[in-house]
Amino acid sequence: MRRSAKLSAYVLVFLFAIACVAQRPGAGVAPFISENVPVFAITHVRVVDGTGASAKDDQTVVVANGKIQTLGPTASVQVPAGAKQIDGTGYTVIPGLVGMHDHLYYTATAAMQRDANGRLGEPGLFVNEIPYTAPRLSLAAGVTTLRTTGSVEPYTDLRVKRLIDQGMMPGPKLDLTAPYLEGWPTIFAQMHSLTGPDDARRLVDYWADEGMTSYKAYMNINRADLAAAITEAHKRGFKLTGHLCSVTWHEAITLGIDDFEHGPVFTATDFVANKKPDTCPSGRDGTDSWAKLDINGPQVQELIRDLVSHHVSVTSTLPVFEMSVAGRPPLQQRVLDAMAPDAKLSYLTLRARSAMPEALLKKEMEFEHAFANAGGLLLAGPDPTGNGGTLPGFGDQREVELLVEAGFTPVQAIQVATENGAKFLGQQDKIGTLAPGKQADIVLIKGDPSRNIVDIENVETVFKDGIGYDSRKLIESIRGQVGMR
Ligand SMILES: [Zn+2]
Repeated sequence: MRRSAKLSAYVLVFLFAIACVAQRPGAGVAPFISENVPVFAITHVRVVDGTGASAKDDQTVVVANGKIQTLGPTASVQVPAGAKQIDGTGYTVIPGLVGMHDHLYYTATAAMQRDANGRLGEPGLFVNEIPYTAPRLSLAAGVTTLRTTGSVEPYTDLRVKRLIDQGMMPGPKLDLTAPYLEGWPTIFAQMHSLTGPDDARRLVDYWADEGMTSYKAYMNINRADLAAAITEAHKRGFKLTGHLCSVTWHEAITLGIDDFEHGPVFTATDFVANKKPDTCPSGRDGTDSWAKLDINGPQVQELIRDLVSHHVSVTSTLPVFEMSVAGRPPLQQRVLDAMAPDAKLSYLTLRARSAMPEALLKKEMEFEHAFANAGGLLLAGPDPTGNGGTLPGFGDQREVELLVEAGFTPVQAIQVATENGAKFLGQQDKIGTLAPGKQADIVLIKGDPSRNIVDIENVETVFKDGIGYDSRKLIESIRGQVGMR
């Protein structure tokens, strides 16, 4: 008894010591900061400003107190006396990426619990929260703002945001999405099933009060619950997106939804023959219906018109679909190095089994390009789930590369991943493009992603509000840990 009391006293002192260390502001981020002066200029640098405009060579960007002060040709920009100068020769700057499907969790493992018939055993599918590695990897890859797009550990997410905002943890600015608004049945152990419209309103209000700033409806929600959730979210001033199945895109547009996740080929059930209302069709009925559709045909064109005229966005998540295509994407050492041993084994096992027809991925790409060309607001994010090969941050870069494969020019693809997300979040006056007066969220990249989009992987320094983070050090700090913490 006495001994255990003494022991708990030690534990308390120990925890108090940890708390004191943890509360020193900046202690958690200092090791990763490579540039921290109030006024600096990046000179002779190529600028891709995020508006879709062509790249401009030999520019100078002046940053003062966390904001972009001046940006223009090196020959005409006056660098303030005493400003630190960073030589940008051979480098490109782009705006910080605005990741719009960037969970703080990750696929747990390929080795799921199975019952005697091979079916998923109770309590159902679960995923691993990765609150330590996801913010670091995201920031390292150039993501300075992200939407979590569905939470499985809401109080962890809230804590991560608070610590990042206080400068105690490296990471992007977070738009936290509440726990999923899901119906019944769900295969996910970590999701609540709504019991009706009152429950939907109750949860929207509860999570808004707790600090969440966006919502996501999921595959088995019904129309009544979705309608209640959308109305309540809008009352609180927040947007609601959906990865739907039981409710069609046309139905959700009518109910006032703001955004659709993943694009339609893997989620929109509008064209499934004999679809029952409020029911997610079984198996591959949805994708099969899309396999037969012509993107230029009347049905898809009408859907695009419906989306554009109602100002409903679509979030592209090409990397998570690419994972299911045999032999794609190229296996990267940096991805494997970041993974925990079990995550790596699991990913390589599932990768070897990938067998999705590439034509489905191409069809999704074709839709996204057509939607954007028709004036739709296309957003971008990796969705770090699937077979485990899509990592936070690295996946955001891959998304931009895949948009180029889909037919966007490199500067257009960068615009989708920067300005478009900022517009959706209503923050285009602060982030998403490089211009005087904007927050200095700037990614310094070696090479020229405006010509060779793969150069977007060569991030060296990521400025968030004018403070520069060393990408390499952030990546090194999570080596071997993605999937575990
Ligand atoms: Zn997702």
